[in-house]
Amino acid sequence: MHMHRRAVLGGLSAAITVSYAFGPARAADLPAVTLDGADATLRDRDIQKFKSGFKGAVLQPTDADYDQARRIWNAMFEKRPALIAKCTSVDDVKTAVKFARDHNLLTAVRCGGHSISGQSVCERGLVIDLSGLRKLDLDVNAKTVRVDGGCLLGDVDKAAQSAGLASTFGVVSHTGVGGLTLGGGMGRLQRQFGLAIDNLLEVQVVTADGRLVTANKDENVDLYWGVRGGGGNFGIVTSFKFGLHDFNTPILGGTAIYPGAQAKQVLSNFFEYSATASDKLWLVAILSRNMKGDASAVISSNYMGSPSEGEPVLKAFTTFGNTIRTATSTTAYVDLQKQSDQTERHDRYHYAKSGMLGALAAPQQKALIDTAVDYFMENPMPGTRTLLLLMGGAVNRVDANATAYPHRNALHSIDVGGDGDTREDGEKYVQWGRKYWEGIEPFTGGGFYINSMIDANERRIQGNFGPNYDRLVAVKTKYDPTNLFRLNANVKPKAA
Ligand SMILES: Cc1cc2nc3c(=O)[nH]c(=O)nc-3n(C[C@H](O)[C@H](O)[C@H](O)COP(=O)(O)OP(=O)(O)OC[C@H]3O[C@@H](n4cnc5c(N)ncnc54)[C@H](O)[C@@H]3O)c2cc1C
Repeated sequence: MHMHRRAVLGGLSAAITVSYAFGPARAADLPAVTLDGADATLRDRDIQKFKSGFKGAVLQPTDADYDQARRIWNAMFEKRPALIAKCTSVDDVKTAVKFARDHNLLTAVRCGGHSISGQSVCERGLVIDLSGLRKLDLDVNAKTVRVDGGCLLGDVDKAAQSAGLASTFGVVSHTGVGGLTLGGGMGRLQRQFGLAIDNLLEVQVVTADGRLVTANKDENVDLYWGVRGGGGNFGIVTSFKFGLHDFNTPILGGTAIYPGAQAKQVLSNFFEYSATASDKLWLVAILSRNMKGDASAVISSNYMGSPSEGEPVLKAFTTFGNTIRTATSTTAYVDLQKQSDQTERHDRYHYAKSGMLGALAAPQQKALIDTAVDYFMENPMPGTRTLLLLMGGAVNRVDANATAYPHRNALHSIDVGGDGDTREDGEKYVQWGRKYWEGIEPFTGGGFYINSMIDANERRIQGNFGPNYDRLVAVKTKYDPTNLFRLNANVKPKAA
């Protein structure tokens, strides 16, 4: 469709370009927006020049694929970029970064498109889309994998498991490696092997000045430190290299469902259990309300070791109250990693607030449970949940300043929100979640997982990174002094 339009206008446009070289916008020019939010115009001739130096597709609003390409996982964010540059190589990434910089364009970077706060798409700016960069190289002997910047978790899980190896990525296979890793990267194996960043050996990054820079423990160590938890602040990672672990066992999973009326007792037992939990556990407590409005408290667990060893461990989770129903199953790791793909599917309207919880003294713990359960029960909203995830283990055996990720003392993360099929549902969750969070946030001390960040501002981001913030500012100032990469948990560079 786009080609057709250009073909029709082709003969005419040369003449118009000459007469209006510095004049008013023409039909083929595109309204755009600068980094600072000012209105701008992208001239057609500049767009054509960009396209001629770019191997992948550069989509604009008239293109047939544009509407699909601008959609991200969270349907709440329906933005219309001026251009979507679908990169096919590192050179394409460099060309797109140069175009963004030359035109001072608001720029978003997209890998798996799962940004909960909609940062991987932007209104009237440029989206640098890495979803065409999905190659990976597995080195079975070295137990490493090099992954292109647009890969999804499932790509890596599949390749690694074919050799009896595993990474420590997250729990939904269509999530992007890019965003997940740069923010930290939690997954079922985290208590044994750490976060994704704790297994990240090297990155290659296209920085704001268009260079391709390698960062690892010996080279550009400041950048290597920053990308491990500092998000997409420093440039576009075109390649990640991870260490993998021998891991070749089916996984035992358990679900124990309790009536909502027992939620306080269940959560209290969950907290008590957490203190001495095995590093082989992935453990989540959920207050859940289904679309019919029924509330329940659920303990969901995976034993990330041999199923026979896990069986007695998982039994404990059926004793936190009087269960309505329990279930266990044994699943291959790759299949388990895909098990939530459908419930966490794209195009739903999602809102969630989240934070990190450190060790809470008994009265604080009780107060948190009361706050969490009372609001949930007294403000019934179909399709909502409160989720407490056990952190700790290997994640906390890394110093808080060893990487940019600051939450090495967190014992749990807490997340409250909902998913619905309509924008109306989503808007209700925003109101519900914000009010709920007023009660919960004080227990977090202001710390949150930047990959679940929503409604954040500069002060909150600074508070979140705490003692690591100044160092992040220094890395940002060195690699992205004009703050080209700002649609993220943005760390502002020092003014020149
Ligand atoms: C269904 C679902 C399940 C999830 N499960 C988990 C989980 O199990 N564990 C967990 O830790 N988190 C999880 N998350 C949160 C997830 O980590 C974040 O949403 C993350 O941002 C997703 O990465 P992405 O590449 O898919 O997102 P995108 O929206 O593509 O990117 C998000 C941001 O990351 C940056 N970015 C992405 N790729 C690059 C790159 N190559 N170079 C530079 N910057 C880049 C950009 O700033 C971009 O705005 C989940 C989210 C969803 C929606």
